[in-house]
Amino acid sequence: MSAETLTFQAETARLLELVATALYSNKEVFVRELVSNAADATDKLRYLNQTDASLLDGQPELQVTVTPDPDNNRLTFTDTGIGMNRDELIENLGTIAKSGTKAFMDHLKSAGDGDGAGPADTSALIGQFGVGFYSAFVVADSVSVTSRRAGEDKAHRWTSDGKGAFSIEELEGEHPRGTQIELTLKEDAAEFANDFRLRNVIERYANHIAIPVYMESLAGEPEDAAPADDAGDGDNGQEWQSTIEQINKAQAIWRRSAAEVDADAHKEFYQASTGMFDEPWDKVHLNAEGALEYHALLYLPSTKPFDLYNAERKNNGVKLYVKRVFITDETEELMPSYLRFVRGVVDSEDLPLNVSRELLQASPILSKMKDALTKRVLNVLKKRADKDAEGYSAFYETFGAVLKEGLYEDFMSRDKLLPLVRFKSSEVDGWTSLADYISRMKEGQDKIYYINAESEEAAASSAHLEGFKARGLEVLYAVDPVDSFWIPSIGMFEEKQFESVTQGSTDLSNFERTDAGEKADESKENIEAATDVIAKFKTALGERVSDVRLTDRLDSSAVCLVAGETGADRRLEKILASHNQAMPDNKPVLEVNPNHALIKALPGRNLGVQEWEETAALLFDVALVQEGELPSNPADFARKIQGIMGQ
Ligand code: ADP
Ligand code: MG
Repeated sequence: MSAETLTFQAETARLLELVATALYSNKEVFVRELVSNAADATDKLRYLNQTDASLLDGQPELQVTVTPDPDNNRLTFTDTGIGMNRDELIENLGTIAKSGTKAFMDHLKSAGDGDGAGPADTSALIGQFGVGFYSAFVVADSVSVTSRRAGEDKAHRWTSDGKGAFSIEELEGEHPRGTQIELTLKEDAAEFANDFRLRNVIERYANHIAIPVYMESLAGEPEDAAPADDAGDGDNGQEWQSTIEQINKAQAIWRRSAAEVDADAHKEFYQASTGMFDEPWDKVHLNAEGALEYHALLYLPSTKPFDLYNAERKNNGVKLYVKRVFITDETEELMPSYLRFVRGVVDSEDLPLNVSRELLQASPILSKMKDALTKRVLNVLKKRADKDAEGYSAFYETFGAVLKEGLYEDFMSRDKLLPLVRFKSSEVDGWTSLADYISRMKEGQDKIYYINAESEEAAASSAHLEGFKARGLEVLYAVDPVDSFWIPSIGMFEEKQFESVTQGSTDLSNFERTDAGEKADESKENIEAATDVIAKFKTALGERVSDVRLTDRLDSSAVCLVAGETGADRRLEKILASHNQAMPDNKPVLEVNPNHALIKALPGRNLGVQEWEETAALLFDVALVQEGELPSNPADFARKIQGIMGQ
């Protein structure tokens, strides 16, 4: 049957090029990718076999065989997995339909814009983005994939030089089930047809694979082989002699006892099964017996997976197995979403093998495992937080914002999560816990002060903090959007109420300024003098504010805006507005610093009604700008400022 030539989808051809360049200095990764694809294919077959036992007909063994052929510079990966039919060959190897491919390209593009992401960085991403097959072209001039899908008769061959086109043909005759990938190695990749080198790479990347990985060594053509002594024996007439040997241990590492698995084995399994190149930061290895029987091996990564914040991503970091059979990596029922960075395997003895999606969703077994595993993960975090503050800070830096989602999503885990929360603050360097904050509270202080802001810099320079800083009152920086939600919803920690410094009124009169003396006396007069200013501002601003009042929140600034006592804080309002979720009209309060030179000067200026209006409006806009907002009419604001500067 004649071959048909098809072109890669435009992006695929470009992708091939990118992968090849990216992996140039880390070529051997292709072994990991091809072996793990083979293992995935056997997993799929084993799963389908639960409902159709005939699929294993003829070849019950599930395995991968790697065959180097140094004489011809070839290398072949043969698996007895599910295989692919014609459409699947085209779809899986020739198109960019998979979402990961697109994401990978986008990532490479943005990395190319100069944020320093080098090739090593990129090789770490190949597996994660699901573009592993293309790594074959890093070492091969041409790749041919021969495959017969389990349960189907016809085999097909897909061939490509990775330069824009591939051909596909139907094959005559009988072919074994599964997939054979033959690489014709590039000159500079000939090393991979070398027995010794290849064995080494397979050992490194395939030890954890749960099916046997064999290496077949072709002993060379008869004339090269040692002459046969027993010349009379007709058996030596065969063309090839080969030896076959299992290279990996083929144990499901998660089923071994925790003591048996060393750090290297963990690292290897973690990297190979997640496609990540970092070290696992910590782990949970659990062989549970009793009411529920399961094995779990979960890893906390030390770097951020690329799709951590992707809302569409299924919570598929944790794969579900039943009695060693892979079931799915698309289940949200194994880890709560705020632990979506956790990677690993859960292998249940209790679930039925033919468990359906619907059954999974409703399964009490799954939800019990989820609860138990969630607790375990949080315990590991607590242990690290207590013992290794620095290490925990690094983890928190990476995943804290996600972890905090649990504070309003998972009521049951709140008490475990709160001690894990960390903040930057106005008084100390580095991360601080709530307990540490409380231990530093001033005498008479009964609130945990915090500020919602866009960034640490914005928080640190916020006008709202001035009065607190002047009194040595510590303010926590709540700079993740999620903070605007969980803090008000929790309300307090160890009987101490959270108080936003940008919401409601605040009374700091019980706390002495650290520079007391010079300022304390004058403020009483100033307060009296400012009472009239307040009244004038109120009239001038009318509907734009819910109130105008004096404050001791400020120091070097004259005014600021705060949110009303009830309802959303200013930052939460902005977050909601940016998601087109308008809040019921929540008017801010304008607060005025009676000790500020500008405010003190106003009563003596004999301003007319019009001038009061302009001054109030201008200060209102100044308060907006202070928060990083645009004034209500920027052009007008700019004109006024220039007018004043001109005077
Ligand atoms: P991923 O493995 O992340 O899906 P790859 O680029 O490694 O991405 O592989 C693409 C797809 O090609 C796989 O999802 C699978 O459907 C198919 N595939 C690759 N290798 C094999 C194989 N040995 N047997 C069956 N299918 C395979
Ligand atoms: Mg793959």
